[in-house]
Formats: sequence, structure tokens, C-alpha cells
Amino acid sequence: MLYVNEIKRTLVGECGMGGQGQWMVLVRFQGCNLKCKWCDSKEASLPTSLESNTAYQKLTPSEVWGKISDVTIDRGTEKILLTGGEPLMQNEKDLRALLDILIDFQVYIETNGEFLAERFKFLDECGCGLIVDFKPPSSGIKYHRDTIRYRLDRLNMLCAEPTTVKVVVHTMGDLWFANAIWEYTQEVNHYHPIYVSATPDFGHKRLYEELCKNNLTHLNQNVQIHKILGCA
Ligand code: SF4
Repeated sequence: MLYVNEIKRTLVGECGMGGQGQWMVLVRFQGCNLKCKWCDSKEASLPTSLESNTAYQKLTPSEVWGKISDVTIDRGTEKILLTGGEPLMQNEKDLRALLDILIDFQVYIETNGEFLAERFKFLDECGCGLIVDFKPPSSGIKYHRDTIRYRLDRLNMLCAEPTTVKVVVHTMGDLWFANAIWEYTQEVNHYHPIYVSATPDFGHKRLYEELCKNNLTHLNQNVQIHKILGCA
């Protein structure tokens, strides 16, 4: 079974999926292994084991497909984003079954990267695009530098295409964290693009200015239009 928080038709908001502003179907799974301070999907991050948590539905892969087709039928939507919560916490067999059903769509998985090693074979074989969202210092999540190197190394070995790395920037410390990731990518010859997205408190204009001022133009700016429009 798959634990699903919501399924809806919305706009592609992330640069990592290409075609920003095109329509897609968002499948938000329930449950997450992290507790980011500023989590923007708090309801979806709640554990499915929590008795009072009624925010999700327990569905078979075919039932998930039924709900996806309800919102896509005759509308030409080609992209599907599997996000969360943390989608790689779902039952692997059921996730594979869902991907088999979705074979004609461009499917992207957005993950916090914690399960890159455990789910490596699955990710390598699934044929999906991958967006790996490294959590910056302001989230309260701490990484050892070897963890980041190890994950980038794993990403290098994956056949998943396209693969992008994303960092949300809430403070200057977060921006330097994104730059440190870029420096590691140079060490491990990993050339997947890195996107940085400003939170409302940091601001898109300020992020643009800081990228220019600090000569950080190897980092790409991702203006998350779904956040501006409040549609996801
Ligand atoms: S990884 Fe994502 S869903 Fe999980 S707590 Fe962090 S922001 Fe929320």
C-alpha cells in the first residue's frame, strides 16, 4: 500500500523538472524521516503511525493511478512529481508497481536524499528524474562533509536523468552551504546542476544580488513559482 497525502494538478514550480509553468500532477506521499524547522509540508511529514493523523489515504498503486487519471484525463499532462514527505520511505514494491503504470509519463522523484544508498538499485532502475533536496543549516539538519560527498558520489553512479541538486536558502549560511556542495561536486566530478531557492524571508532579489556579488554564478537560481502563487 502507498500512503498518500494529496494528489492534484498544479504548475511545475521547480527548475529541476524543466518546463516551469507547465501543468503536472503532484503526488504527495505521507511520512518523512526528517523534522526540518521550516518544513513547508508539515502535514505530509507526520508519521502514518500517529493515531490522530488522518491526513492521508492508504491506496493501492492502481487506486493512486485512478486518482491521477481523474485529474489528467484529456488535458495533456505529461509530468508527474512524486514528493512528500519523503517518497522513498514508501513500500518499494508498490512504488515500482506505480512507476510501471506511469510508464508513459515523465516522472520525477523529489527526495531529501537520506535513502540514496538504501534505495540505490531502485533509483538506478526506475528511469525517473531525480531532485535531491539537501537540507541547509537553517533547517536544523546537520550533515557531516563525508555524508555529502558520499551522496554526491552515489548520484554520480546513478543512471537517473535528469538529476539536480536543490538547496533552500533562508540565511547566508545556507548559501555558503550550497556553495560547499558545489565545491564537493568539483572534487568528485559530479556535474549535475545545483539550484538555490530563496525563502520569502531571504527574498529572490537578494539571492540574485548575493549570487552576483559573491561570484557564485555556478549556482543556479530557482524561483519556485508555486510558492509565489501559493498553489503547492
Ligand atoms: S524533508 Fe521535506 S517533508 Fe521532510 S521535514 Fe524536511 S521539509 Fe518537511
